Amino acid sequence: MFLFINVALHFTQIILRYTDPMDPKYATHKGLLETHELHKYIMENNVYPREPKPLKELRALTATHPWAVMGTAPEAGQLIEILLKVIGAKKTIEIGVFTGYSLLLTALAIPQDGKIVAIDMDRGAYEIGLPVIQKAGVEHKINFIESEGLPALDKLLEDPENQGSFDYVFVDADKGNYINYHELILKLLKVNGIVVYDNTLWFGTVAKPEDSVPEGYRRGRTAIVEFNKALAADPRVDISMIPLGDGLTICRRL
Ligand code: SAH
Ligand code: CA
Repeated sequence: MFLFINVALHFTQIILRYTDPMDPKYATHKGLLETHELHKYIMENNVYPREPKPLKELRALTATHPWAVMGTAPEAGQLIEILLKVIGAKKTIEIGVFTGYSLLLTALAIPQDGKIVAIDMDRGAYEIGLPVIQKAGVEHKINFIESEGLPALDKLLEDPENQGSFDYVFVDADKGNYINYHELILKLLKVNGIVVYDNTLWFGTVAKPEDSVPEGYRRGRTAIVEFNKALAADPRVDISMIPLGDGLTICRRL
């Protein structure tokens, strides 16, 4: 096992040494923007010059992963970073960690004594990014819980101290459960707390007729369309949909 980890680490370092996050090969997708040129302009002139080194490293490390596209878009990450700092977020939750891009950016943005409850049933993916998180000196802010999202939130709610106490939640896991996460999150968030839902434009398919959408996107599309409808009708939150990356919806608990 340790031999395996050592060998894996060794190759990771070799890959890292030869991976330039600015290399178009590893550039992220244009998302919902109209042209690749516009995306490239934003990335090269605004996002990459300011992206913290550990995040570049994590992105490069993840680029070779078959599901690399799942990583949070750096341009969306930048907005989240500002949000976290503006609200002075200290007590936070993330559902859907993968290799940890959004987790690391959160850990870097919150203060030294800030905390993140990070929930994902895939510990293996989390462990891919963990060495970068450790090197960045922010692991102590993270409490990783290997679990499905809903039971983990239920468990948090069992402790009365957690109710109405969180500053910020990021949701980026199974889209079919967003609506269920939302109910629990509203109990965990404090008034004025922020929850950000990722992928709320689902590759732009939300605005296309269902039968024109490739089969593989339909389940997610239906879930997100229903979720967006529910949010728009929810008087308990302010909402704003941002067409960055794959779309994110920012909600403030009233
Ligand atoms: N935020 C991540 C990307 C998350 S990808 C980043 O920036 O890189 C989606 C993640 O959700 C995957 O790691 C997957 O294991 C996790 N996931 C899917 N269904 C889940 C569930 N029911 N409970 C918890 N995590 C789940
Ligand atoms: Ca996502």
